Amino acid sequence: MAAAPSSPPTNRVDVFWHDGMLSHDTGRGVFDTGSDPGFLDVLEKHPENPDRVRNMVSILKRGPISPFISWHTATPALISQLLSFHSPEYINELVEADKNGGKVLCCGTFLNPGSWDAVLLAAGNTLSAMKYVLDGKGKIAYALVRPPGHHAQPSQADGYCFLNNAGLAVRLALDSGCKRVVVVDIDVHYGNGTAEGFYQSSDVLTISLHMNHGSWGPSHPQSGSVDELGEDEGYGYNMNIPLPNGTGDRGYEYAMTELVVPAVESFKPEMVVLVVGQDSSAFDPNGRQCLTMDGYRAIGRTIRSLADRHSGGRILIVQEGGYHVTYSAYCLHATVEGILDLPDPLLADPIAYYPEDEAFPVKVVDSIKRYLVDKVPFLKEH
Ligand SMILES: [Zn+2]
Repeated sequence: MAAAPSSPPTNRVDVFWHDGMLSHDTGRGVFDTGSDPGFLDVLEKHPENPDRVRNMVSILKRGPISPFISWHTATPALISQLLSFHSPEYINELVEADKNGGKVLCCGTFLNPGSWDAVLLAAGNTLSAMKYVLDGKGKIAYALVRPPGHHAQPSQADGYCFLNNAGLAVRLALDSGCKRVVVVDIDVHYGNGTAEGFYQSSDVLTISLHMNHGSWGPSHPQSGSVDELGEDEGYGYNMNIPLPNGTGDRGYEYAMTELVVPAVESFKPEMVVLVVGQDSSAFDPNGRQCLTMDGYRAIGRTIRSLADRHSGGRILIVQEGGYHVTYSAYCLHATVEGILDLPDPLLADPIAYYPEDEAFPVKVVDSIKRYLVDKVPFLKEH
């Protein structure tokens, strides 16, 4: 029997993708510097390169998860849509930079010819994915986008990010009548841009699990530490979970169970946004965490159960980092398996052999919990 239009299937993921996002050419150099020291025969691609998402697209198209995927594409975001999250001055800076043939916006973050079109497509596909869910056409949508967005602040590019795709989607949800939106960010880096955009808001609970990398310069002044709790109305509605290097499946599971789940249960979101970066995997060149496919699967499953309990199963997934060209695709596959709550793994993990430190992350999570329960009123009530 066909599902009624008011109740879209819960065993399908609607993926939003446009191959125009491949046109953002980040070049080659020493890792992400864009520079050639002159003494290396082989310069590597910038880690945020088209190959990483090519494999994400192909594994969803040809991997065992493919029967559960429905493909969509969207048009570029309009400049007017960007102003819901970003300042007009910053957007103007980006438009001018594009007109002038490109600009280095900050360390490793290059707006090159062709980049702006890709940036607008990433924002447009994320907005369309959110709208698809808001309109009741799908329950679970995934914006498979690049360049990433979670470091982009209202008036500042940062960490390969220009526009905050997830932040724009959250604004759309709020403007469409959603009263509370939770953002759970599992990219290995602090989702400082998204946090900054909603720092004074109690309508959006931003939660970020990241390695403890601290501030990394003028474009990223936030430390990502537990005491960055939000301000004014938003106090307590930014939850930072900095995890020690080497945290793997067990540590993440413990952080989800002890910190994320109780916070989301208390917050009762009407929309769940999962910000995914596979740079928290055990093999990423840009992170030092130890998640395997099993860990991503478990996170996906937890997010799904939270959404089923609070947001009528509505989930928007937004792609961020993930720089190992092969393993990022596998870990994405596992995340989607978890989100779909499939009973058995569809795909075996080819390289999960790196040991995680299980004991220390558990101690860190316990101490973060003590700190947050003491400081945050809505967590005390739980
Ligand atoms: Zn990252």
